[in-house]
Amino acid sequence: MTPDDLARLDHAHLWHPFTPQLRWTSSEPLIVERGEGNELIDVHGRRYLDGVSSLWTNVHGHGHPALDAAVRDQLDRLAHSTLLGLSHPPAIELAARLAEVAPAPLTRVFFSDNGSTATEVALKMAFQFQQQQGHTQRTRFASLRDAYHGDTLGAVSVGSIDLFHQVYRPLLFDGVALPAPVEPGGDEEAACLQRALALLEEHGDELVALIVEPLVQGAAGMKMHSVDYLRPVLETARAKGVLLVADEVAVGFGRLGTLFAMEQVSVAPDFLCLAKGLGGGYLPIAATLATEAIYEGFLAEPEAYRQFFHGHTFTGNPLACAAALANLDLFATGEVLAHVEQLSDALADALAEGVLPHPAVSSIRQHGVMVGIDLVHPDSTEPTAAFQAGHRMAMATRTHGAITRPLGNTLVLNPPLSLTLEQAHQLVHTAARSLDDVFGAP
Ligand SMILES: *Cc1c(COP(=O)(O)O)cnc(C)c1O
Repeated sequence: MTPDDLARLDHAHLWHPFTPQLRWTSSEPLIVERGEGNELIDVHGRRYLDGVSSLWTNVHGHGHPALDAAVRDQLDRLAHSTLLGLSHPPAIELAARLAEVAPAPLTRVFFSDNGSTATEVALKMAFQFQQQQGHTQRTRFASLRDAYHGDTLGAVSVGSIDLFHQVYRPLLFDGVALPAPVEPGGDEEAACLQRALALLEEHGDELVALIVEPLVQGAAGMKMHSVDYLRPVLETARAKGVLLVADEVAVGFGRLGTLFAMEQVSVAPDFLCLAKGLGGGYLPIAATLATEAIYEGFLAEPEAYRQFFHGHTFTGNPLACAAALANLDLFATGEVLAHVEQLSDALADALAEGVLPHPAVSSIRQHGVMVGIDLVHPDSTEPTAAFQAGHRMAMATRTHGAITRPLGNTLVLNPPLSLTLEQAHQLVHTAARSLDDVFGAP
């Protein structure tokens, strides 16, 4: 099919996620045909740095020989078989490997296929566990303000990004939203912490669990908090009998410099949710890890019906498990995380020099390779939102050879961990040149 045919059929039949389709169909779609390393290549042969890791999923680059080989090898044996009533080697090996690398005492692995299901599973498991323990008064969940835990209704119920979630309010269960800061340290964080602890004191007895995106609230626009905020919040919740769910769908797999963010927090969660980077960004796979204590709450004779009544058809798909095993192998040497440290520094230096000084940039937040660049229209008579600053910036970076995506008025950079230091400078340079294109050179 020619590029023109593809564009026409896309506009005629595809409905894209999170996309205002009227705007989409009025411009030529960027159609990605190939990936090589940290670059995506479109149907015209144009190359772009994958500045947001194909929506925060890609870890080691596209077309990585080890990941490719792992998936091909598995394909020669078995593409799919179910985990309902049967088992298969890649799921068994992956569960054991995850139990080995995850923060203790997470020993049990429940597979699904996306981040929303990973969090839904944690919420339902936590609820059923509390019910089966006789804590029937515990019916509500606590989460952080502006949280994002996925798009299914349970996940949306513990989310609070109004733009995404407001319309569904009548369908959702009610919870307790704890104030969370925009940036770590400082007075705002201290005030959020005091209020969060007070809310936990007040509502602790009715709470099933507290779910958090540790250290970086990604979809909120890269809101960040420090360990000094998160640790007391988690410890206070635990002291009240509230289960702890760490949603590391975005921050897991090295993005904050450690394999898991909770390693930096040093509080042991009862549940850990993984997806996006789990399969190296190759195939849809997710996991909800739980402690042995949680698991034991579901053990009984079949006629007692205490098992977890939940499961997705493609749960623990063998090809995806094979990709995830190869992904974990690549982390095993420590080289990847050592590179993340250098890469984070290179991004920070380049951003401080080339992006922060621009008058349209009000602040930059960064933890590891996750970056949020807040945009304001330098002419204060122009409302930043109506100007669609984030969208314009993301479009502009394409003309300079990088794919990025905004979250509202925040431009996000979140590249593969394999981005070279030279590519890091290149990526930041595309953002700097785009600022001049969109807002004018200072
Ligand atoms: C992306 C994301 C999810 C949802 O994952 P999907 O695979 O898109 O369903 C959940 N939690 C966090 C923190 C995420 O960033």
